[in-house]
Amino acid sequence: MMKKIAVVGAGPGGLAASMILASKGYEVHVYEKQNYVGGRNGHFTLGEGAYTFDIGPTFLSMPHIMEEIFQLSGRNVHDYMDLMELSPMYELQFDGKRVPMYRDRRKMIQVIRDYFPGNEIGYQRFMKETREQMEALTPLLQTRHNRLRDYVSKRTLRALPKLSLGKSVYDVLSQYFDDEKLKIAFTFQAKYLGMSPWECPGAFAILSYMEHEHGVFHPRGGVNQLSKAMARVVEEHGGQIHLGQGVRKFKLDGKKMKALELDSGEIVEADEFIVNADFAHAMNHLVDDQELTKHKSTHLEKKKYSCSTFMIYVGLDKKYEMPHHTIIFAEDYKKNVDEMTKDLVLSDEPSIYVHNASVTDDSLAPEGHSAVYILAPVPNNYSELDWDDKQDLFKELIYDELENKTGFHDIRDHIVAEKVLTPKQWETDHFVHKGATFSLGHQLSQMMYFRPHNKFQEFEHCWLVGGGTHPGSGLPTILESARITTNWIREEEVQTT
Ligand SMILES: Cc1cc2nc3c(=O)[nH]c(=O)nc-3n(C[C@H](O)[C@H](O)[C@H](O)COP(=O)(O)OP(=O)(O)OC[C@H]3O[C@@H](n4cnc5c(N)ncnc54)[C@H](O)[C@@H]3O)c2cc1C
Repeated sequence: MMKKIAVVGAGPGGLAASMILASKGYEVHVYEKQNYVGGRNGHFTLGEGAYTFDIGPTFLSMPHIMEEIFQLSGRNVHDYMDLMELSPMYELQFDGKRVPMYRDRRKMIQVIRDYFPGNEIGYQRFMKETREQMEALTPLLQTRHNRLRDYVSKRTLRALPKLSLGKSVYDVLSQYFDDEKLKIAFTFQAKYLGMSPWECPGAFAILSYMEHEHGVFHPRGGVNQLSKAMARVVEEHGGQIHLGQGVRKFKLDGKKMKALELDSGEIVEADEFIVNADFAHAMNHLVDDQELTKHKSTHLEKKKYSCSTFMIYVGLDKKYEMPHHTIIFAEDYKKNVDEMTKDLVLSDEPSIYVHNASVTDDSLAPEGHSAVYILAPVPNNYSELDWDDKQDLFKELIYDELENKTGFHDIRDHIVAEKVLTPKQWETDHFVHKGATFSLGHQLSQMMYFRPHNKFQEFEHCWLVGGGTHPGSGLPTILESARITTNWIREEEVQTT
């Protein structure tokens, strides 16, 4: 008899682990508190189903990792998702100047020649040297990190010089470019980890490299299609996804994980447990503090967490010929980033990301209409900002910025449906610790061995997947967390049989 696996949460991490294990014959049961799959990678509609929105992720990169995870589960991802590559990948807006960014090398060099002359060679050098760095780092991101002595392995020692230790992403890009705007164009990706380019470890220069090397994709229907597709594969292999069945507590026998107590009071026993719920949230809510050693609430309070995001999702009775992805940078970008990550205050001039996917994908809104997702990075809830008080003013500030600075110059006149999601709601409605939407920070002190291990250190038969664990937040790394965990579960089983 194959083992029974109980998974807490149907986010992309939990679903990826579930589909791999279900395909290998394990009895998989996923318990999800929400009534939908995907977690932050889920979707919702407004206007009686007329407008469809991704809740969170909208950038899909490194599609080969997704392809590999589906192959591991005996499936071809392209049978489930219609992927479109975006060209330009996105448009960046600085002081009214619109700069398209391309994966195509020749087009990108032309853009640099037009907007940032003299930096063409720096771009080529960045791509070449970061490719070497990526080759050295990839094994570290695909490997478990549960023993400190692993750090003296040959592979790690070889990768160490590539980690740009002691440098920030901004420092690294300053070695290639002399134009401040261009540096921002290749470092703003630190924001995908909810971090400042001036703080984010230099190794994460691989983030912009990944986009420029592998491209940015949009699945028809939205990036939420990834989680939907994985949920289908889980069920095709006989796994069961129990929606609306939250987990209230882990049931332990000493340090052995024995069962889950659901919100309904039902007790679910299993051989192995995989936790996909946001790590810090799970530790604070599903386990009693006295059962923990390293991850008690007092310890978790000392960790660093990502920034949060203020979201406006709007259905519009107008289609704007604006790019699929636009990022509008505050004039003083560093001040804006410091305010959101250090000073923990709202910026008078926020940076804003606009996802206008209807321009590529007509399935998201009725003809002539559009479904637009607007995101402003803001401090997480350690700021103690009163969002009930601030929400309306901040929303109007964002609309003002869009109307004044972008092609969405009359957006307010075309709103048919609208939903706002604040850091407070990320915490209360989406179960994200302190509304830190990109989970635990990616400071080196919280990476690899120093990040929660995929085989949880505290309890036996308990495994972790998702953005708050190794290797990190972001869909490609979340899928890697599922690959590491499931390989490990299978390997241990072989060893014990
Ligand atoms: C606004 C935003 C934009 C993002 N953009 C990108 C992007 O463009 N590209 C990218 O690669 N990444 C992006 N990310 C980061 C990351 O890819 C997503 O956050 C991703 O969904 C995280 O996946 P996860 O598996 O870690 O957890 P989650 O998606 O949070 O899933 C965890 C699941 O656990 C469930 N759960 C929690 N508690 C319980 C409980 N007690 N019982 C049962 N279930 C429970 C939750 O309901 C949820 O469904 C973005 C994130 C956000 C928030």
